Amino acid sequence: MRTTLIVGNWKMNKTASEAASFVRELLSTLPMSPTVEVVLAPPFTALESVRTALGPSSRMGLGAQNLHWEQQGAFTGEISGPMLRNLGCTYVIVGHSERRTLFGERDADIHKKVRAALANQLRPILCVGESLGEREAGRTEAIVIGQVTAGLADLTSQDLAIVTIAYEPVWAIGTGRAATTEQAVAVHQAIRSCIATGWNKKTAEGLRILYGGSVTPQNAESLLTESDIDGALVGGACLKTESFATITLAAQKKRIR
Ligand code: PEP
Repeated sequence: MRTTLIVGNWKMNKTASEAASFVRELLSTLPMSPTVEVVLAPPFTALESVRTALGPSSRMGLGAQNLHWEQQGAFTGEISGPMLRNLGCTYVIVGHSERRTLFGERDADIHKKVRAALANQLRPILCVGESLGEREAGRTEAIVIGQVTAGLADLTSQDLAIVTIAYEPVWAIGTGRAATTEQAVAVHQAIRSCIATGWNKKTAEGLRILYGGSVTPQNAESLLTESDIDGALVGGACLKTESFATITLAAQKKRIR
């Protein structure tokens, strides 16, 4: 049984004080249920204020949007795994398409980041996804599976038990044009069968695969009630309490069905 996971990727939005008041609003709006795990991934500068606003017993987790693969040292402007752990993070997003395309992250860097997350007891959320050109050229599966195998190279089944994959077609991120449920399911199934082949069936069945890319209150239920879609990585729609709450509620319906 895979627990559904909804992650809000705030990207470069909200100051520390805006984040704290947003979280207070969220706590009174968000429907909570033991069947759906919710994680907030604010900017680094708001991690502390979000953690404080969530309080010690909150059921919402804290995630970061990136990390460096080294533990410490002369890496100006970077943030390491131990720093994130110390701030209460339990998750970290790795290899988001904006990191790949705008900041030049390559599969080899992303692999080191996945390993660094695991070494610091952080659950990596490995993002993968094809560009529009790649989809139109019929290369979706090859691209996504290439990113998955490069990102997870040399990991054991025990490592994979704490990894989450987010399938995020680049053409769907921030465009208002989500993948159809059928398109998302097809890629999720391809990822799961790649894990079954490369590791084993039990590992594949335990792996959570999220969908991300223009998830909205309107399309969330159709996507999230699919058995192959284990949750969502939400960008734009996580910045408003009502839309994030509606998406979370749609995820809760999955288990009721
Ligand atoms: C994202 O950037 O991870 C994302 C899914 O963004 P959006 O929901 O805005 O498409």
